[in-house]
This record gives sequence, structure tokens and C-alpha cells, in this order.
Amino acid sequence: MLVLTTRDELRAHLDTVRGAGRSVALVPTMGALHEGHLSLLRAGAAECDVVVLTIFVNPLQFAAHEDLGAYPRPLENDLELAEAAGADVVFTPSTDEMYGSGVHTTVHVDTLTDRMEGTARPTHFDGVTTVVAKLFNLVGACRAYFGEKDYQQLAVVTRMAADLDHPVVVVGCPIVREGDGVALSSRNVYLTEEQRVAATVLHRALRAGATMIGVGERDAGAVAAHMAEIVTAEPLARLDYAEAADSVSLEPLETLARGGSVRLLVAAGFGPTRLLDNLGVVVPLSCPTPRMDSA
Ligand code: AMP
Repeated sequence: MLVLTTRDELRAHLDTVRGAGRSVALVPTMGALHEGHLSLLRAGAAECDVVVLTIFVNPLQFAAHEDLGAYPRPLENDLELAEAAGADVVFTPSTDEMYGSGVHTTVHVDTLTDRMEGTARPTHFDGVTTVVAKLFNLVGACRAYFGEKDYQQLAVVTRMAADLDHPVVVVGCPIVREGDGVALSSRNVYLTEEQRVAATVLHRALRAGATMIGVGERDAGAVAAHMAEIVTAEPLARLDYAEAADSVSLEPLETLARGGSVRLLVAAGFGPTRLLDNLGVVVPLSCPTPRMDSA
């Protein structure tokens, strides 16, 4: 596995790779790797010849009060995990390498970034799209793997790649969860034992929302309100949002159309840590037949 720290080395190496007719998978991360990240590397390795992992804690996507300084950076361990999961190249640049000449240009995707994470973290998505656009330009033609865990981010990056004609196919991959349903996240290490138990409320709320839809609820507001109630009932959780949104536009829905694809999304604080989760639901084509009492 090749570990590179400069943009020139990365670009030159991947030009050679593609020149030899080999395809490239890109997996952008901030490190502190867990099974969620490793699932992206494995998906890339299954579909492409050369897998590039990037590890960069991108200051541009953190607000001043957020956890940039505290964000875990276990690089040696990450390199071992990455190699075992099939990474061929790791790009781990310094902040100076990425932004040494200042940040005079940023990339902004509108509409999709207006709500949910965009409201909670107003500068976040511009930081994400700016660094991802730089990575797409450095890496060149590739398939880029992102987790559905950050569903709004996946939608925003997909929009950006299409609008800016990046030669990149954005691939969304399923959320990897712990046995109790909690989505893996590098930020789970911040949770106390009690908060970690409380964090299961997010997945429980999503499943309750999915069940409501499965048994015939067609009012998206009622589904969102039920998920919000469940999260609010957990004393250690501070609800940020609970939404039933169109799975492509991420606009909040009113009525759930039969056969429609809905994304349920929740976010909440547990102490100083904010966690996100989401679940895809296809609205059944027919309402379940009511059970008759056999009296
Ligand atoms: P991060 O290092 O947190 O910026 O995440 C890097 C990539 O890994 C993003 O595309 C995330 O959506 C993805 N990811 C993070 N956690 C998970 C998870 N539990 N399951 C699947 N993908 C994940």
C-alpha cells in the first residue's frame, strides 16, 4: 500500500494507473476508520482495480465551536485497517498541502443544503463540497464511494458531481450498524456509557416511522411527529430534527405516495455530541387489509 502526502504525487500516480487501463475507486474519509469506512473500501475493491483512500480532517467543514481539535486521528491504526480492507493508495495530506495558498474559492450546492444539516451547521456543506471537488479534481476519473450514513451529504455530492461535470460516478453504500442498531460513527467514541445506550433511540425512532408507513400511514407529518416524540422521550437526547423527506430532493413530504421512495432522517445531541441517522422506506403499493375479528 502506497502512502502519499502531496497532491502532485497523487495525481501523477493515478494518471499512470489509468494510463495502464486500470480503474480507480475513491473513498474520501476523515480517518478514525471503522467498519462503515471499511465497507466502502471493500465495495471499491470489488468494482475497481485500484482503491484510493483519503484521510483528511477538513477544517473547512467544521464551525469554530465544533470538534476539529478533538477529532480522533489514529493514523497508524487506520493504515493497518485500510490495507487489510483492500486500499492500494492512502492520500493523507496536511492542511497546508490542501489549503496552503488560502481558501479563495469555495463550492456551494444550493437547495439541497438549505435544510436539516444545512440549518444545524450553516458552513458545513460548503466545506464538504469544496474539499470533495478538490479530491475529485486530483483523483480524476473514478467511482467515488460515500456512505448513506450521511445521506444529505451523499445527495449534495451527487448533485455537485453532475452539475460540475466531474468525471466521477458517485456510489452510495448502505449504513453499517452495531448490533443494537446504532450507526457506526467516528464520533461514537465521545459518548459516555449512558449516552451510548440512549443513542439507540435514533434507530428505534426510524424503525417506528418505517413501521407506521408499512401499516398504512400516508401522512408524512404524522410519521415525522411520531419519530420526534420517540426521540424527545429519551431524557439524554436533544432532538434536532425528524423528517420524512423525498429520497432524491430531500424536500419534506406531505402525503406519502404509493410506491414512492421516502427517506426518514433524524439528528439529535447526546451531551456535546451530535449524531445522525436515516432509513429508506418504499411506501407499499396497497394498504394492508384490516384484520377482521372472527367473532
Ligand atoms: P467520515 O470519515 O465520517 O467523514 O466518513 C467518511 C465516509 O464514510 C462518508 O461517506 C460516510 O458517510 C461514510 N460512513 C461513515 N459512517 C458510516 C457507516 N456507519 N456506514 C456506512 N458508511 C459510513
